[in-house]
Amino acid sequence: AIRLADVHLSLGHAAARVHILKGISLAVRPGEAIGLVGPSGSGKSTLLMTLAGLERADRGAVIVAGQELGGLDEDALARFRGRNIGIVFQSFHLVPTMTALENVALPIELTGGRDAFERAAASLERVGLGHRLHHYPSQLSGGEQQRVAIARATVGHPPILVADEPTGNLDEATGSSIVELLFDLKRDRHATLVLVTHDPSLAARCDRVVHLRSGLVEADHAPANL
Ligand code: ATP
Ligand code: MG
Repeated sequence: AIRLADVHLSLGHAAARVHILKGISLAVRPGEAIGLVGPSGSGKSTLLMTLAGLERADRGAVIVAGQELGGLDEDALARFRGRNIGIVFQSFHLVPTMTALENVALPIELTGGRDAFERAAASLERVGLGHRLHHYPSQLSGGEQQRVAIARATVGHPPILVADEPTGNLDEATGSSIVELLFDLKRDRHATLVLVTHDPSLAARCDRVVHLRSGLVEADHAPANL
């Protein structure tokens, strides 16, 4: 579960300082899928990074999997992220000098887990890339790189999966196969999903759609039928 209470966040320095999140309150139940939508610049990515523990709120509480993130120092926060949160960035963020297998094994190695390569291979098979284990990111298509990013985000079976426009860089067919994959993982592992998306068909698959506008929750409802 995720709970945010009156979360404020500003980023940038001096003239570029921006008050981005202006009092966000939001509760996500375990196993729920939330679609986060809203205009460009409304604070969706910043909110995702805040609930993933990659940005710290200036004010308010961020409680993820029972842990108040504001109370953790940097090391504890990094360990918490490694155990609890899978993150899929829009631009993949794969390590270019590592193979698909090495990229996916990395979070397990960083958290000191066992059998990193066996588990990484299983995770890549799960996303249909069992035949691309030893390819480097530059040797993979965009959709394949996105699937490696999902394999990496899910290899440790985190209870919470967040993704920033996971279909944003993909063609329609590849995008919908990525959507199926995310929802299969939610179903099989009872993961909580928070997805930033501009894609109406992805928002329609979620249990709830949360609209942001100018750093505030403007609406929060079941997805409209398409
Ligand atoms: P998009 O749909 O375009 O991805 P978004 O809703 O994800 O938009 P954010 O990336 O959260 O928007 O950014 C919200 C606002 O905060 C934007 O106006 C942006 O310019 C500003 N902003 C984001 N990061 C910083 C930063 N590090 N320093 C200063 N301002 C920032
Ligand atoms: Mg964004």
